[in-house]
Amino acid sequence: MKNESIEKLHPTILRKFIIILFSAIALGFPAVIIGLTHKESDPQLSNISYGIFVTLVIGALVSLAVLTKFVKCPKCNTKTRKVDHPTTHKVYCRPCNITWNLRIGKKNNHQ
Ligand SMILES: [Zn+2]
Repeated sequence: MKNESIEKLHPTILRKFIIILFSAIALGFPAVIIGLTHKESDPQLSNISYGIFVTLVIGALVSLAVLTKFVKCPKCNTKTRKVDHPTTHKVYCRPCNITWNLRIGKKNNHQ
């Protein structure tokens, strides 16, 4: 069963991806700075800051994994299926017969 599907760029996922990534950096960076600068003066605050940073990193990684794994079709809101592609994350929507290119590269392949 090999019918040609249309390939389109997913309109929202990359933006969400970047928002999550930048929020994690924007919130995590000050936490690390506080952790480093209060290491001796306030070890408890330092530990809390590191804890916040670790939580943010894990939270961001989980969100990004979920975001790329459970992608809904922007057209019909149906859950899509992952498409095997060596360099880019792509998903397929059966009702629309559209392959959505998420524009998110895999590993170190920048193409
Ligand atoms: Zn669809």
